[in-house]
Amino acid sequence: MPNIDLHCHSTISDGLLTPTQLVEHAATRAVDMLALTDHDDVAGLEEARLAAADKSITFINGVEISADWRGQTLHIVGLGIDPDHPQLVQGLKSIRDGRTARAHNIATQLDKFGIHGSFEGAYANSGDGRLIGRTHFARFLVQQGYAKDVRSVFKKYLVKGKPGYVPHQWASLNEAVDWICSSGGRAVIAHPARYKLGKSALDELLLEFRALGGEAIEVITASHTPEQSLLFARHSQRMGLLASRGSDFHGPGESYFDLGRMPDLPAGCTPVWHDWTSVM
Ligand code: AMP
Ligand code: MN
Ligand code: MN
Ligand code: MN
Repeated sequence: MPNIDLHCHSTISDGLLTPTQLVEHAATRAVDMLALTDHDDVAGLEEARLAAADKSITFINGVEISADWRGQTLHIVGLGIDPDHPQLVQGLKSIRDGRTARAHNIATQLDKFGIHGSFEGAYANSGDGRLIGRTHFARFLVQQGYAKDVRSVFKKYLVKGKPGYVPHQWASLNEAVDWICSSGGRAVIAHPARYKLGKSALDELLLEFRALGGEAIEVITASHTPEQSLLFARHSQRMGLLASRGSDFHGPGESYFDLGRMPDLPAGCTPVWHDWTSVM
């Protein structure tokens, strides 16, 4: 069975490896097909595609779009998108601009809490400030000694109810799916167990997502326990959705799964790549 990893991040968003380093790392982990899915940006795809060709890895253009659904943030992965599609390009740019405004708001909150210089710190961690996320704040707080690692710093400072959390308006679910579909991609709900939806809200989301043109959910992801993977495998079958597999790798030492090093899809799932001729 080919080793397929359809969710990971580079320095273009909040990963630690450049697109080239990421692909080189994938090659050492025997990944056959890789999608780079940076948050709200497609700027790493060209470099990653060139590096993948060098390593004989099949490369899939991807993105992970931040979206709102009923006041909750969802992540929608797009696979096989056209990174030059004007609607997608413009939509992602507006999300990144919103992120910069949010970063200023996060820094203001942390200032009030006695933590100073976090905008500059997060900006520096992001490279060129093109996309600033909570992970860049988390790394700054770890650098300043507020917690021992990114995971614990999130819990203490950056999640709902904590000093550095600010509510934020992302794209709508409708827009995110529309940008992906219009650019020729396949929309996938990332790490569905993370949203902690009850049975009826989950059904409503899956039905709405499907009606909008969404086609798949992640079944295997670092955010799922083995039980949750089986549960979402059943949901995918019940709802006629395809199943995806991705590590959500952000970098060595920061991620639960290494690239390509996670369980296979459970039996009975129809893989999101089932009709991609290059891997059949
Ligand atoms: P943002 O899109 O800026 O809100 O940041 C979301 C990113 O933060 C996710 O993609 C993860 O990389 C990271 N993240 C979110 N929650 C946690 C957590 N509890 N522990 C570690 N990283 C997290
Ligand atoms: Mn991330
Ligand atoms: Mn995500
Ligand atoms: Mn991700």
